[in-house]
Amino acid sequence: MKFKKILAVAAAMAFAVSAFAGCGGSSSNQASSSSSEQKVLKVGSSIDFAPFEFQDEGQTEYQGFDMDLIRAIGKEMGYEVEIQNIGFDGLIPALQAKNIDVIISGMTINDDRKQNVEFSDPYYQSGLTMVVRDNEQNIQSFKDLKGRKVAVQIGTTSAEKAKEMEGVEVKELNTPADCFMELKNGGVDAVINDRPVNDYYIVKTGATGVKALEEKLTAEDYGIALAKGNTDLQQKINDALKKLHDDGEYDQIYAKWFGEKK
Ligand code: GLN
Repeated sequence: MKFKKILAVAAAMAFAVSAFAGCGGSSSNQASSSSSEQKVLKVGSSIDFAPFEFQDEGQTEYQGFDMDLIRAIGKEMGYEVEIQNIGFDGLIPALQAKNIDVIISGMTINDDRKQNVEFSDPYYQSGLTMVVRDNEQNIQSFKDLKGRKVAVQIGTTSAEKAKEMEGVEVKELNTPADCFMELKNGGVDAVINDRPVNDYYIVKTGATGVKALEEKLTAEDYGIALAKGNTDLQQKINDALKKLHDDGEYDQIYAKWFGEKK
């Protein structure tokens, strides 16, 4: 009994020490190094945003454009990439708590966020569009949303824009999939979301009963977010991104998910 107790105390101490060491490492504002000297880049992403980040059933690895890009960036920098699935509205708090080193999650660079995080150079041009039921006659444009209900993903630029619209009832849900479900079930009349994600949903998943409208509400650039002041890592990521553009690897990853650039 006594021996077991000693073991338990020793285990608890070892845990405390390793947890403490973990804190020390991440509070240095650098991507952390593991004991084997392999540098680890801790990445947060909300794995609900195909074709940027998603997980098909039966797949063990997270897939998508962002996933390929951050793995290529990590490789270029000599870092092992570890990806954690964190809900979109929890990503910036996780970065601020230093649980992760970077966010790649189809995250739009904007002034609000820049108050709390640094961004890499832009890596993808996006923007917001709308999906409605395919028998919908009366919503042709964003201005037709007055008096209607709209679903958006919580914490996103879509949520922010929808809330600015006069006379629109906004439902904030956890994922785009929840938003599309709500639309199909008749709980809302439209979903506002990022154009490439809407297009992928309609075309690639063969979604029925819904259609994406052409009109663009905004033009937005995606960036990789880092903790405020982490300019060393920001520079390394920008250098790696530039290298991937120069050597054609960015274009290859782009073509894999979106086809050849127009
Ligand atoms: N681009 C949008 C934003 O940054 C949506 C991102 C997302 O849902 N993953 O708010």
